[in-house]
Amino acid sequence: MLKIINGQVYDPANGVSGDVKDIYIQDGHVVGKPSQPQDRGGDVEVLDAAGCVVMPGGVEIHSHIAGPKVNNGRIMCPEDHYDHFRSKTLATRSGTGYTVPSTFMTGYLYAGLGYTTAFEAAVPALEARHAHEELQDTPLLDTGIYTLMGNNYMIMKILSEPDPQARKDRLRAVMSWQLRSSKGYAVKVVNPGGVESWKWSQGDAGMDTPVPPFGVTPRQILIELVDTVEELHLPHPLHLHCNHLGEAGNVETTLETMRTLAGRRLHLTHMQFHAYGITEKGRIKSAAPQIVECLNQHPEFTCDVGQIVFGPATTMTADSPMQYRLHQLTGHKWASSDVEMETGAGIVPLTYRPDVLINAIQWCIGLELLLLNKNPWQVFLTTDHPNAGPFVAYPQIIRLLMDADYRQAWLEKLHPQVKRYTNLAEINREFTLNEIAIVTRAGPARTLGLSKKGHLGDGAQADVAIYRLQDDKEAMFSSPVYVLKDGEVIVRDGQAIKSFTGRTLLADPDSSLPLPSDLVKDFDSFYSVALSNYAVEDEYVAHPEVIPCT
Ligand SMILES: [Zn+2]
Repeated sequence: MLKIINGQVYDPANGVSGDVKDIYIQDGHVVGKPSQPQDRGGDVEVLDAAGCVVMPGGVEIHSHIAGPKVNNGRIMCPEDHYDHFRSKTLATRSGTGYTVPSTFMTGYLYAGLGYTTAFEAAVPALEARHAHEELQDTPLLDTGIYTLMGNNYMIMKILSEPDPQARKDRLRAVMSWQLRSSKGYAVKVVNPGGVESWKWSQGDAGMDTPVPPFGVTPRQILIELVDTVEELHLPHPLHLHCNHLGEAGNVETTLETMRTLAGRRLHLTHMQFHAYGITEKGRIKSAAPQIVECLNQHPEFTCDVGQIVFGPATTMTADSPMQYRLHQLTGHKWASSDVEMETGAGIVPLTYRPDVLINAIQWCIGLELLLLNKNPWQVFLTTDHPNAGPFVAYPQIIRLLMDADYRQAWLEKLHPQVKRYTNLAEINREFTLNEIAIVTRAGPARTLGLSKKGHLGDGAQADVAIYRLQDDKEAMFSSPVYVLKDGEVIVRDGQAIKSFTGRTLLADPDSSLPLPSDLVKDFDSFYSVALSNYAVEDEYVAHPEVIPCT
């Protein structure tokens, strides 16, 4: 047994906010205080956390860390690897990279910040094997993938069928099968219908613009896929990258999407990129207040923020039309990959600069979404790594949230016109440690339906991060004194001291309906060959009741 003593515990899922209390760990799980005196005898290992904060391990809800597009990003940015190199140690492998680190480096860096779980947010079913193999090489993290379905040929074909009941049954069968075949954890939709429209040389689809050649609309794709996710009893709601990412005025699309799906569970990702108003001159301005107001009226919705980090980034997304536009706009190098009949992917390296007005506005919008939001269980911290910046910037973002003076000092360094288009200068709120624990672990774990993660109650997985309390919150969260994974110390003073593979997190979709025979003929053998002979360590995840966000 291991006992962590004297630490200030932040476990918001169990209502614990800074109380000094002991945490008992046995066989990889948090357990209650042993009742037998002998259980507290000499065989109890003690970890003294005096002067420290104890939190559950961090849970990364949206990141791009494995699969072909991530690999393409590595190939496209050799400079990212020359400058960032970490030698091997007796316990760990060597690694390279900053915006797109190598697999080993990714695991050590996340663990070095106190994170023990991470999800790769966009994987086409056909590429799932590659993603899983990289994740198996990403140490110290439990991982999972979200399987892309919003522009998938089979799904669009079914959505175009006239009989509502047949459509519903077939959709359920195909989505369940696709998720199981790809060993996915959640259903991801990126720019519903928009990628397929682009492949047919059509402009950006509006919510009710039919997508060729199927004639279905983005609105129909969203409603029917969100409902099917619920019918399949998946632990995480549909994970949505809305239409019109990055466009001035796209707040209208985002709000329309939320109104369309009101009353249904939904996770909206990298909201910062979807919270843009428009000025009379067509320039981006912050629409964070409208987004937050709508979110707070709808506790069934959650989102992550996609906070901009100044410096180099590598944008990569299944939203290939958006990446094409970004390439045209910036002239930066660009890669596009068509995943035939499924989706696409685009990659554009980018640098966000504080003296560039649009980047400064984007930076403010992300922070506004977090700081204006009244319910921290609804808006989570991400950088959509490496799209808005690398995840290693989390400690700095935490300081920006917790320290208004520091934030103000940063605001003064931005493009001088930024205050005309944003609201951040008027916000004085400072996050508490409890709120940081919600937006980095407890909240993501809850919306992901991970009942054993994101908290330190009885039966929780003993993933624990211990940070020395400091006034400088960036320094504090940059280098945890200890990180434990399943009760084992994996990090000391911010450095990984172990290297082992974590679990693969799987959903358990209802598979009661067989795959329709006409589709089996066309596709099952194709996918089966791509995905066969690949075993992962499974973890059963039960479908949780919908927990109201309080
Ligand atoms: Zn993303």
